Amino acid sequence: MPAPDQPRTLHAAAEPRVVGKEASIWGRRRVLLLNSTYEPLTALPMRRAVIMLMCGKADVVHDDPSGPVIHSATRTITVPSVIRLRTFVRVPYRARVPMTRAALMHRDRFRCAYCGNKADTVDHVVPRSRGGDHSWENCVAACAQCNHRKADHLLSDLGWTLRSAPLPPKGQHWRLLSTVKDLDPAWMRYLGEGAA
Ligand SMILES: [Zn+2]
Repeated sequence: MPAPDQPRTLHAAAEPRVVGKEASIWGRRRVLLLNSTYEPLTALPMRRAVIMLMCGKADVVHDDPSGPVIHSATRTITVPSVIRLRTFVRVPYRARVPMTRAALMHRDRFRCAYCGNKADTVDHVVPRSRGGDHSWENCVAACAQCNHRKADHLLSDLGWTLRSAPLPPKGQHWRLLSTVKDLDPAWMRYLGEGAA
């Protein structure tokens, strides 16, 4: 939790240091930033998250007791998993969530759209060779076996059906799912319906 009784100095916040072996993860680790309304906004580099905490722009929502420890001139901070802005920021509305393999797998819950088994490939429902595009509406998670059997066929050729119509996901948390490689499991409860 934040410690408002401790002195905060901007110059100290601008120069946080990571000690020892923690330095190696300095560049990789991300902290989930929530709006003041708890809407997920983005995954911040650790350095920016720490500076926001030190400047009093954000508070800790979810601690990570095993997180790396950062020392400044005046404070020691264990880097949390999730922080929240103190003041609301308006997020520009963007209509379409970019499709990535990771986000597609989350949308389809890692299940094959044809047989329901564990999926590990992406299938184009209308094959690209037949003009199908690379979009949320034309891509599904598929197991390797179904993908191989389907090959360049249309569903109508095979008599197959989809278990549900593929649609683009909606909501801010999908941007995180589509752009962040390593999602911290602690974030899932803040990412809303369908994220886990
Ligand atoms: Zn399958």
